[in-house]
Amino acid sequence: MNNRQLFLSHLAQTTDFPLLIEIEKAEGVYMYGPNGEKYMDLISGIGVSNVGHRHPKVLKAIQNQLDKYLHLMVYGEYVQSPQAQLAKAICDTLPESLDNVYLVNSGSEAVEGALKLAKRYTGKPKLVSCVNAYHGSSSGALSVGGNEIFKRAYRPLLPGVSNIQYGNLEDLEKIDSDTAAVIVETIQGEAGIRVGTQKYFKALRDKCLEMGTLLILDEIQAGFGRTGKFWAFEHFDIVPDIVVCAKGMGGGMPIGAFIANKEVMGVFKNNPLLGHITTFGGHPVSSAASLATIQVLQEENLINQVEEKAELFKSFLVHPKIKGIRNKGLMMAVEFESFEVLKPIIDQAIELGVITDWFLFCDDSMRIAPPLTITKEQIKEACDGILKAINLVTE
Ligand code: PMP
Repeated sequence: MNNRQLFLSHLAQTTDFPLLIEIEKAEGVYMYGPNGEKYMDLISGIGVSNVGHRHPKVLKAIQNQLDKYLHLMVYGEYVQSPQAQLAKAICDTLPESLDNVYLVNSGSEAVEGALKLAKRYTGKPKLVSCVNAYHGSSSGALSVGGNEIFKRAYRPLLPGVSNIQYGNLEDLEKIDSDTAAVIVETIQGEAGIRVGTQKYFKALRDKCLEMGTLLILDEIQAGFGRTGKFWAFEHFDIVPDIVVCAKGMGGGMPIGAFIANKEVMGVFKNNPLLGHITTFGGHPVSSAASLATIQVLQEENLINQVEEKAELFKSFLVHPKIKGIRNKGLMMAVEFESFEVLKPIIDQAIELGVITDWFLFCDDSMRIAPPLTITKEQIKEACDGILKAINLVTE
């Protein structure tokens, strides 16, 4: 059997329509198939490869750590320098009040940890999240998800969860003093890139303070430079109580974190109640990769170039079939009339070697989230490919 047959026979599937692209090697913004195919990766493995595939500095950090040790002990017991140094580097990117980092394995696990922390710290039972939010696929993260179709089969989920409309000021009145936390994606990703206003975020921040509720911002997709600031919440001039991150954090390695201040996080060390326990959380190789990723983002000045690159995409992607573009930096959604119009365009673009995608809860829009390392020439190449695909399909 070839790899495609093995994939279909023995790997559990997540969809009836997997992309089924086989990749043998990846470098920078390009991925290469076994038969000489060359693809441009415009989705970064869903917001992961912010510094491009196999960035040399990330590879070097991984190699250095491979020469020292792999797993030693569950998270939180031994002093492991990649974890300690990563925690400091993350805190250096954040406002002073966010000074304590809990390292985990993934976005979903970071959300689980953050929700537990908020309940434990406040002693309150309720959670509030947004309609069309995506916070992950584990039971707690799914519970605060905002799409009923995804949740229906798994009920009963966490009790005491209610949804409000992202960006809606009136809905903030639904946050009451029994609420442990409000969890919000700073920029809604799977909803198709929805961007709240400064007024909204200020009002949300104030409401949480008024109710003694912690504000958790999910920066799993929007963080690590994607929107043109290191953290997307910097656009809105607010400071959350807890930040969750993952995806782009590891430069291609699995890692996540939830971050709070030392006092809030401190409740997790109070015995005899267990806090959050994770065997592989902050794996030393992933932590070393993450530290290098932060250095690359800063040293290569990648974040400052995001806005200009996004504008370039918008200037090239002009076509009667394109209804509009929603974006915050290089987190972009290109809107078409319907999924029926968009799907063949995405398929055709892949044929032409340009990989895009749609969104979990928004299937009329094309996802564009390239590595931040993409050059201006590569943006032109990418947009030419997309426009050609549109013309070929709609001719
Ligand atoms: N939150 C957001 C905003 C996400 O985009 C994702 C992943 N798409 C997650 C949480 C879950 O992350 P993971 O898949 O690493 O569990």
